[in-house]
Amino acid sequence: MHFRRLEDANLSGKTAIVRVDFNVPRAEDGSISDDTRIQAALPTLRAIRDAGAKLVILSHFGRPKGEVRPDLSLDFLLPVLNEHLGETIGFIDGSNAADISENITLVENTRFEAGETKGDEDLAKRWASMGDVFIQDAFSASHRNHVSSAGLAKFLPAYAGLSMERELDHLAQALENPRQPVLGVVGGAKVSTKIDLLKNLVDKLDMLAIGGGMANTFLAAQGYDVGNSLCEHDLADTARDIMTAAQKANCQILLPIDVVAATEFAANAPHRVCGLNDVKANEMILDAGPETVEGLLDAIDRAKTLIWNGPLGAFEITPFDTSTVEAANYAGKRVKENGLIAVAGGGDTVAALKHAGAADNFTFISTAGGAFLEWMEGKALPGVEILKV
Ligand code: AMP
Repeated sequence: MHFRRLEDANLSGKTAIVRVDFNVPRAEDGSISDDTRIQAALPTLRAIRDAGAKLVILSHFGRPKGEVRPDLSLDFLLPVLNEHLGETIGFIDGSNAADISENITLVENTRFEAGETKGDEDLAKRWASMGDVFIQDAFSASHRNHVSSAGLAKFLPAYAGLSMERELDHLAQALENPRQPVLGVVGGAKVSTKIDLLKNLVDKLDMLAIGGGMANTFLAAQGYDVGNSLCEHDLADTARDIMTAAQKANCQILLPIDVVAATEFAANAPHRVCGLNDVKANEMILDAGPETVEGLLDAIDRAKTLIWNGPLGAFEITPFDTSTVEAANYAGKRVKENGLIAVAGGGDTVAALKHAGAADNFTFISTAGGAFLEWMEGKALPGVEILKV
C-alpha cells in the first residue's frame, strides 16, 4: 500500500493538526494505569516539533456522545504531556477553534462535539482552520468516519504519523504482500463476531487454524457432539459455507482434533483430554488438546508469515490457557530463530499473548481493537483511505 508518510509532509513553519489516541485506561484515583498509547504517540509529536511545526493535538476519550462531560475531560493529560515534551501545553475547547498561541495545544475531547462522530463538514472546516496539515496517527480510530479520523482530510493534506506508518507497514507485510505460506490463527469466543473476518481470510491465506469457543461451532457443524460447550448451533450453515469457501480457495482449515473438556468454567476445574467423539453431555470444551497443538506447531513451522487474532481456549483460567501459551511461545521462538513474520492484534489477543509471555517476541502487535478486526475483514478504513496516494 502506498500512502503519504510523515517524511513527505512539509512541516517547517507550519501548524500540524495531529490525531492521536489518548483514550488511555485510568484507575479509580484518576492515574493512568497503562500509558502505552501515550508512549506510542510521542515519537510522532516530537518529530513534528523537531521539523519546526506547531502542534495541535486531537484525541477522543471515552464516549461522551456529543456532551461536555467533565469526568471525560482531557485536562488530566496536560501535566503528562508537559513532562514528556518539555513545553507548556495550551488547552482549548473544541467548540471554539481559536488562534493557536502555544507551540503545543491540546484540544479538549473531540467527542464533546456532536459533529465529530457524524463526520460533520462544518466542524471539519472549523478544526482545519487551526492548521496547515493533518497528521493521522491513530490507527485504532481509523475505522471511524469521524471528523478527527478522516473528515479533516477534506480541507487539509493528510499524512500518516509514525505510529500509523508502523501499523500500516506491518499489516501490509502480513496480508497484502506477505511471504508465503501464510498461516492465520483465529480464536475467541464466537463465530458470529468473526464471520466477515473468516470469509476474507480463507481467500488470502494458505492455512487457517480455528480455535477457542468458535471452533466448537465448526465441530458441531461437522456433526460432532460438543456437549455443554459454548457453541452457536444456529451458525452451522455459515461454518459449512466458510469450510467450502476455504476448499475452493485452497486454504487448509485446521480445526481441533482433540480437546480439553471440563464440567465447570473455572480455574483448575477437573478436566480431561478427549477425542472429538467423546465429549460428554455435561462437559464443555475449554481448550485444544495436545495433538491439536502439535499440528499447530507444525503449521507454524511451515509458515513464513503468521497472523493471529483471538485465544485458542479459555486462556484466563488455568490450565485452559495451555494451547494458547504453547502456540504463542512457539511462534515467538520461530520469529527469533527462523525469521517468521508474526503479526497479531484485536480484542483479547494482546492480553493472551502478554499472558503467554510471547508478546515481545512477535514481529508486531497492533494495539487497535475494532480497526484491526475491520482491516482483517478486508474493509476500507476511512482514516487510512485518506492517506493513500
Ligand atoms: P474474543 O473476544 O472473541 O476474542 O473471545 C475471547 C474470549 O473467548 C476469552 O474470554 C476466552 O476465555 C473465550 N474462550 C475461548 N475459548 C473458549 C471456549 N472453548 N469456551 C468458552 N470460552 C472460550
